[in-house]
Amino acid sequence: MNPISKPDYMPIPELRKMQLEKLQKLIPYEYERVPLFRRRCDEKGVKPRDLVTLADLAKFPFMKKTDLRDEYPYGLTAAPMSEINRFHCSSGTTGKPICIPQTAEDVAIWTEGVARCMAMYGITRDDIVQVSYGYGLFTGGLGAHYGAEKLGCAVLPTGAGNTEKQIMLMKDLGTTVICCTPSYFLHLATVAEKIGVDFRRDTKLRHGVFGAEPWTDEIRERIEQMSGIKAHDIYGLTEIAGPGVAGNCPYCHGLHVWEDHFYPEIIDPDTLEVLPDGEEGELVFTTLDRVGTPMVRYRTRDLSRLQVGECKCGRTMRVMDRVHARSDDMLIIHGVNVFPSQIEACLMKVPEVAPHYMIELSSTDTMDRFEIKVEVTADTMSDSMSKMEAVRKRVAASIKEIVGLSPKIMLVAPGSLPRSEGKIKRVIDNRRK
Ligand SMILES: [Zn+2]
Repeated sequence: MNPISKPDYMPIPELRKMQLEKLQKLIPYEYERVPLFRRRCDEKGVKPRDLVTLADLAKFPFMKKTDLRDEYPYGLTAAPMSEINRFHCSSGTTGKPICIPQTAEDVAIWTEGVARCMAMYGITRDDIVQVSYGYGLFTGGLGAHYGAEKLGCAVLPTGAGNTEKQIMLMKDLGTTVICCTPSYFLHLATVAEKIGVDFRRDTKLRHGVFGAEPWTDEIRERIEQMSGIKAHDIYGLTEIAGPGVAGNCPYCHGLHVWEDHFYPEIIDPDTLEVLPDGEEGELVFTTLDRVGTPMVRYRTRDLSRLQVGECKCGRTMRVMDRVHARSDDMLIIHGVNVFPSQIEACLMKVPEVAPHYMIELSSTDTMDRFEIKVEVTADTMSDSMSKMEAVRKRVAASIKEIVGLSPKIMLVAPGSLPRSEGKIKRVIDNRRK
């Protein structure tokens, strides 16, 4: 076992004791240094000394993304600037970005999280890791970079973009691990095919570390089939650290949460009550050690579940379900609640379609229009019209069966939909609000 993985197997009583001790330091620290948190605690009539057991955390107020926007840039910063070592910001699609100042210690904990994920995936110091996440304010690039270096790997920091050159370097240098968004990997695969590079034949690629956007098991299967690599899910968010808060275990379908640093809760998003392990709800995280921008009960908007029972791999850290959906992504179409991931899963059941699609919503005077454009594979494109029509009907039937709606389905040529070098946008909602 790599020594970096040692905490993964911590005995549970020791882990719970450690979590409580860390919380009993964190809550007074946050109360003293972050006025917003103090004000909310005072409003609820709760004091730091009220945290006696782990269950008492439920008495404390939540933090939300809007708090980070409202308090931008330094309102939630708990450490003095002399201790701050790094900034990361998430791109705000609307209004101000969120800004997370971190100390060197914070970056080290985040790095450890990424390295523990990579070790769990079977990556070792013998690997060559190509980091094709964007570098910069986004946590993907530097997070994967530091994590892979910590594990002792050789790192090839290509960043995103310049796809043909990336494939050349992958071939020539013998890259064995790629880190990027799943949608960027799909783009890499399309370009590789176009320039005649077969991942199995021409490269040494064996692992993909994919994160930063929700992706379904069906896309994961497609990626593994088309490239011969093992596709691993890495979960995280800038507000809590970056990628590496949790990573998927080769023994189960879920992700071990590094809960010695990031304390998870699942809440009912409507009543805000804490739900027991095994029930699905919104993921909430508390950073147990972060000094620069500590987060107490941060609502992620990600829907998941903490699994009950121990994992066969022997790790004691709790397992969360893969995040297929963010509550923010839910669409209401003709009165039906639909997640884009459900549509993705329906599409991927039809082998003739490629993993590139776009959901478009618009409204006319009388009703909402719901259209899905999906690329077909090159082989399917050369088939007769009647065969294409049969494919279209199967796609429609798959969506009708699972989602209960009948959108207009348009099969489009391979390569005709937009590609992304970072996080992809697959829903265009032009309906009147
Ligand atoms: Zn496991």
